[in-house]
Amino acid sequence: MTTSEPLPPDAAVDLHLHTRYSDGAWRPADLFATLTQGGFRVVSVVDHDQMEHLPEVSALGAERSIVVIPGTEVTTEWRGLAAHLLCYAPLATGFTSDALRAVVDDTRARMLANTQMIYDTMLARGYHFPRQQEALARDGQLNRAMDVGTLLLAHGYADGPGEAMRMVNEAGYQQALAPIAQAVAAAHASGALCVLAHPGRGEGEIHRYEPAEIEALLAEVPLDGVEVYYPTHSTAQVAAYEALAARHGLLISAGSDSHAPNTRQPVPYPARRIAPLLQRLGVTTQQ
Ligand SMILES: [Zn+2]
Ligand SMILES: [Zn+2]
Repeated sequence: MTTSEPLPPDAAVDLHLHTRYSDGAWRPADLFATLTQGGFRVVSVVDHDQMEHLPEVSALGAERSIVVIPGTEVTTEWRGLAAHLLCYAPLATGFTSDALRAVVDDTRARMLANTQMIYDTMLARGYHFPRQQEALARDGQLNRAMDVGTLLLAHGYADGPGEAMRMVNEAGYQQALAPIAQAVAAAHASGALCVLAHPGRGEGEIHRYEPAEIEALLAEVPLDGVEVYYPTHSTAQVAAYEALAARHGLLISAGSDSHAPNTRQPVPYPARRIAPLLQRLGVTTQQ
């Protein structure tokens, strides 16, 4: 839906949510019930490397008078390191070409092929997964490599998540990554803005981007913004990324990265903190 009324400065916004369409456990309807209870006004569901969620979440938002910015989080690569890229399309137009969809379809296809290969390897080794349907969201459908780890855990073949991941790695896990320059070019060709997700995170496959490294990235790739407000960013990190954004004229975004009802919840960030980004996407905030 579109919005004509300007948002109050403190209106609750969260531009980084996930559902069962990718690796989240949220059912979209439950997520939107929670967002309604929390009084959220503008959100974006950015399920990884796909766009199949867009019609359903936009319909749920329209039913509940929550503005839903069309978005996806693309798993990209820069200098051999993973970089998560949030792509947001303006409300009025949505994604205007299939360029970005082609990138995410290719990334997802490679991810699914690798996941299937790992699964087949486990079966060939004699592991059985009779409780697959209950153990995995999406009615047991395989989606990503860690789903095989979840199956190993659920069937008592691994003692903990660390061992499950080690078994998945050993079976040939490879991240599917789109070159970041290609993803940004495709997003721009689709009318979307590109925001570097959670730069201050940094664990496992997630690389931490210090401000100086983002400056090197910006010299090669025309990013539009940085996700400055994020639950695990420290006060010092927020200040450093705010300063970086000011130096380079980058837009600032805010998101919880909520994946599931029983873990991190959506966060009601005040709209004023990201008003210029919201404006570019078609949502005006009162001064
Ligand atoms: Zn991410
Ligand atoms: Zn995310």
